[in-house]
Parts: sequence; structure tokens; C-alpha cells
Amino acid sequence: MPKLSLFPLTAKVNNQGHICIGGCDIADLTREFGTPLYLFDEFTLRHKCHEFKAEFSKYYPDSLVIYASKAFLNQALALIFKQEGLGLDVVSGGELSIAHSVNFPPAKVYFHGNNKTPEELMLALNWNIGRVVVDNFYELELLNRLAKEREVSLDILLRLNPGVDPHTHEYTTTGILDSKFGFPLATGQAEEAVKQAMSASNLNLLGLHFHLGSPIAETKSYEVATELVLRFVLETRDKFSFRLGEFSVGGGFAVQYTLDSKVPAVADYAQAITNKLNSLISQTGLDSPHLIIEPGRAIVGQAGVALYKVGAIKEIPGVRKYICVDGGMSDNIRPALYGAKYEALVANKALEAEDELVTIVGKLCESGDILVREANLASVFPGDILAIPVCGAYSIPMWSNYNALPRPAIIMVNNGEACLIRRRESYPDLMSLDIG
Ligand SMILES: *Cc1c(COP(=O)(O)O)cnc(C)c1O
Repeated sequence: MPKLSLFPLTAKVNNQGHICIGGCDIADLTREFGTPLYLFDEFTLRHKCHEFKAEFSKYYPDSLVIYASKAFLNQALALIFKQEGLGLDVVSGGELSIAHSVNFPPAKVYFHGNNKTPEELMLALNWNIGRVVVDNFYELELLNRLAKEREVSLDILLRLNPGVDPHTHEYTTTGILDSKFGFPLATGQAEEAVKQAMSASNLNLLGLHFHLGSPIAETKSYEVATELVLRFVLETRDKFSFRLGEFSVGGGFAVQYTLDSKVPAVADYAQAITNKLNSLISQTGLDSPHLIIEPGRAIVGQAGVALYKVGAIKEIPGVRKYICVDGGMSDNIRPALYGAKYEALVANKALEAEDELVTIVGKLCESGDILVREANLASVFPGDILAIPVCGAYSIPMWSNYNALPRPAIIMVNNGEACLIRRRESYPDLMSLDIG
């Protein structure tokens, strides 16, 4: 069963032909917790944290892996990342609150975003978070004013836009010149930002950051951007005596979603980035900065699986066979939003031949509510369990209540035990904020 390789690392097929993850049979899990159900495998999560830390520190010991919360964060995951010694990248007061609620070490929290509100920046100041990554001139001035009112000095990084195209989807490309993110290198605005940040009374410019987009399936883009930014550092060092104390290369590391896609290993990204960095440092005599890596998708993607129950099956002769499941674009909008591709598997028939070509759709009132356009499946009937692997990143945080569907439950499995880490929404939950 080649598709098993896309599932969490603990995935196996038992002799009933059921997929088991973290020692738990998926048929038992869906019976106990219902469907749609999102599952995380704790072993895979921790393994990915380790892999990133080990691969980068092997070639560049002074490095810190910070998890990009927007891929998916809740309290259970935040606690795991805290235990694993990762930092956190947050992009809103909400993500900051989740981190704060589990006493995440504030010094390891980095606050990103292109339009942080004064209220959000005040939260960051109140909780003493480690770094604010400043995106634009408005924020630079606002943050300096807020820090001055509080009589504190705040460590910041500047987000630069290096003008490098990483060849991913238009909606998830962030480091080309025409982007809402960062100070462009090409226009001279990056240089102006360094100058202003260095003269800001209550800000301490520690370093620079870029993030090119996601997912990036080539290592070359990171090397090109690293070189551009370090050359810029050399210029600003000579002009303004700027010292690069910290250097963040962002995230964007790809994961394998389908059997026919190939992506670099974590080790490939680590080698490409650290080789470039080490060789530029030795060529130019720059001091070695503290290196920050910000994976989101690559930490949680493979650890997560979406489980659905099959309902209606509609065959339009000579056209297509539709398999309808009990979730859809309300719990995973990625296929509808940017054509994301997935594989699927009948999780209670993993030993059967996959000889049917079908289209898997959800139950939402949109024709675009397609989860997998072309899926090879075993013969499937109402009541079967359909598993979609690699659903741990960017599905859950974009959940909606479209059609007033309650949001699914989320469980964590490990060593034969399953525990609920977010309960399923109820109908009363849907009305709990209504007034009237
Ligand atoms: C989204 C984002 C990341 C993480 O991207 P992944 O593809 O999930 O690794 C890292 N840094 C910044 C600034 C981001 O916006």
C-alpha cells in the first residue's frame, strides 16, 4: 500500500485491513469520536520537531526552530512545541493568546504580520514577547511610540522583501516585489527601514527576516534570497554600522501530498541554507548571526489525517462517480481555494485493490466543494471510512461553519491511546454568540 507512506509515521494496516495510527484502529476511533474527525499523531509531530532541530543545528549550531502557528495551533499542540523546545511564530493577538494560555516562554515568541493593530502590539508588549517582526514604516513608527509610552526597549527584526520568486501558487507567494509583505530591497525602502529602525529611540534592531512563500519545493530560492540579504547587510554595515545579530529565513518547506509529487527532505533545505550562510560568512567576514527557521506546514502536515464517513454515491454513466462525504470545504478549503491536491484511501479497506476512479466531494452547497477530483479507491459503499492524509496544515485554521455545519472534533493519538484535543461543536455552539 504505497499511499501509507503519506500517512503519519506510525501508520500500519492491521489484519482486518484497517489503518491504524499511533496504535489506534481508525474504525474504533471514528466509532468513538464520530466523523468528520481530524487526527494528529503525537509521534510524528515530535519527530518532525526533532528532525528540524537536528538537521539545522548539525551544520549551524546557533539556530532556533520556531513553529509557524498559522498552519494550526491549539493548546495541546502549543504544549508539545513548548516541551520540544521550539519557539513560536504568531501572526495575531489570537495566536498570541493561545501561546500565553499555556505559558509559552515569551522570549521565544516572534510576532509577524503585515497589519498588526495597536491593541495586538500592546498585548505583545504586556506579555514581553521576544521579537516583533516589523513589516512596514507605519508599524515601525507605531511600535516605537507604544514602546516609548511604556518606557521599554523592544527587540525587533525587519521583514525584507528580497524579490525572489519561489515558484509556488500566486496566493501563497510573498517575497516578490509586488507583494503586501515586507520592505523591498529593490526600491531602497529596506535600506531606509534599517536607517529608521536604528535611530528609533525605543527599538533595538536585532536582525532581518524574509519569508518567500509556501510551499517551496526548490532549495535554490532560499540560497538566492540569503545571498541577497547578506549582501545588503554588508552594505548597511558599511553605511550605518548595522550588525546582523539574528537572521530568519522564514518557512515554506514543502511536504509530500500526493504520490507523484517530489519534495526536498528537511536535510536538503538545511544543507542548502546553512551552506550558503556559512560560505558567505567566511567570504565576507560577517559575524555569524543567530539563525531562525520557521516551519509550519512541514511540522504538522503529515501528522494530521482527516477522516470522513461515506454517504451518498452518485454515478453519472459515462461521466463520473461522485463519492459524498460528511465534511468538505468547510473543514478543508484548500482544494477549492487554490487547487490543492490530495490522495484518499478507504481506511477500512486498506488491503483491497484500488481499481475505481472516483471524485470525492463534500456536503456543502457549492459545486466547487470537491476534496479530491481524481482518486483511485477500493470499491466504496455508504458507511465506509475515507481517510485523507497530510491534512495537518492549513485546513483546521480555515475551518468555517458554512451551511451551519458544526466544526469537527480533533484527537491526538499515541501508543494505543486517543485523546480529544478539541471537542466537536454542537448545534447550541452554533448559536452561542447570537443575541436575540
Ligand atoms: C506562513 C509563514 C511561515 C510558515 O510557512 P510554512 O509553509 O507553513 O512553513 C513562516 N514564516 C512566516 C513569516 C509566515 O508567514
